[in-house]
Amino acid sequence: MTASGGRIDSHTELYGVIGDPIRHSKSPIMMNRAFRETGINGVYMAFHITDDKLEHFVAGVRAMGIRGVNVTIPHKLRIMDLLDDIHESARIIGAVNTIVNDNGKLTGYNTDGIGYVRSLKEEASPQLAGKRITVIGAGGAARGIIYALLQEGPERVRIVNRSAQRAEELASSLSSGSFIIEASSNDRLQEWCGDADIIINTTSVGMFPNVDQSPVPGEWLNPGAVVSDLIYNPLQTAFLHAAAARGCQTHGGLGMFIYQGAYAFEYWTGQPAPAAAMREEVLAALQG
Ligand code: NAP
Repeated sequence: MTASGGRIDSHTELYGVIGDPIRHSKSPIMMNRAFRETGINGVYMAFHITDDKLEHFVAGVRAMGIRGVNVTIPHKLRIMDLLDDIHESARIIGAVNTIVNDNGKLTGYNTDGIGYVRSLKEEASPQLAGKRITVIGAGGAARGIIYALLQEGPERVRIVNRSAQRAEELASSLSSGSFIIEASSNDRLQEWCGDADIIINTTSVGMFPNVDQSPVPGEWLNPGAVVSDLIYNPLQTAFLHAAAARGCQTHGGLGMFIYQGAYAFEYWTGQPAPAAAMREEVLAALQG
């Protein structure tokens, strides 16, 4: 469907994001810029959907023919029970962040992990095969990105987390065959950060308003490493500041947000996403 000179008309297709809360979301400005940029006749809205309204919302998607939906906190797990099909990526990760509606058949995908890896490869480390990777944190975001990192053939993946049990559960659920993911409490944080090629913070330590906090002191980092943080508020975390001062190459979380949206756009429209324009739009909103 092509645009009618940027106007909403009777052919405009509806897209959106659901969450609770949702008014902070930058997805509408990013996705509407993508539609304008590509000339696709679509409009993308933010819907505040509480848990008790989730089933009604999904019925509405079917009834109204909403073409695509992004799903954020707290619905990424429960939405899975309400869809017709779950793509393998979302099934293994155990969470859906993107729904594609094909003539009433709703399929759930997870683009967070692949979005992160695309960003890491394009912005910091084009080659992930053979790399020794340490992931700090073992929550939902860690699960998605580790699943996607494993597709790239790293030499080693280690998970270090405040709660050792959570790290161990995540490691054993994603280990397969002879590829064993190691797990530890923060006791081994220094050792596992010191001999890694890529260190990724997936915890919320350092996120606004706690912008002075860092999950790891800069002295513990290998100066030749790529140091990545999923947080994008602030764009440059205290962890990334410390890593840059140590001589590491740094990679922030904004690209993950852009590319999870880019993959969703591509699944919905079949067209390449205008990632540079999407980034420009979100950056302007974050800095404005
Ligand atoms: P989550 O499931 O709640 O997991 C939080 C993780 O952070 C857990 O490993 C937790 O450790 C750890 N943690 C929290 N507070 C800590 C503290 N004070 N000290 C040490 N560890 C602490 O959250 P999530 O969904 O994975 O999100 C994690 C981060 O990723 C957030 O900052 C989020 O903004 C970011 N994120 C970014 C994007 C993006 O597009 N760039 C997308 C998704 C998420 P325990 O297990 O010990 O509690």
